[in-house]
Amino acid sequence: MSNGTIFSKIIKGEVLADIVYQDEYITAFRDMLPQAPVHILIVPNLQIKTLNDVVDGDTHLLGRILMAAVGIAKNIGIAEDGYRLVMNCNKHGGQEVYHIHLHLLGGKPLGSILGA
Ligand code: 5GP
Repeated sequence: MSNGTIFSKIIKGEVLADIVYQDEYITAFRDMLPQAPVHILIVPNLQIKTLNDVVDGDTHLLGRILMAAVGIAKNIGIAEDGYRLVMNCNKHGGQEVYHIHLHLLGGKPLGSILGA
């Protein structure tokens, strides 16, 4: 299915995580160090290291990731109040795990995007 990162192990069930959604293409689970009352990561089951590695053929997958985030936000009841979606890329973006993932953050007013 995938290789390499801690997220690959979570996807395969080799490392425990609070998985809130999984299908053939993507897995969503709660962040172990939440930065907001709701902090969920949506990841492709197959590892793509960074956004810079995305190719045209990944367009559908990226759409599924985005739609899953919206669906989860609706299901857990934060959609109406609102939420933030973030993808970090490489060092300046603050990426720590080299398996692309969309952060779904919400559950309280999040302030400005860079916390200023
Ligand atoms: P990045 O900085 O790469 O955009 O975000 C990586 C996120 O993955 C961080 O918010 C971090 O807390 C989370 N994370 C790293 N390792 C694990 C893990 O083993 N389990 C879970 N649930 N989250 C993790």
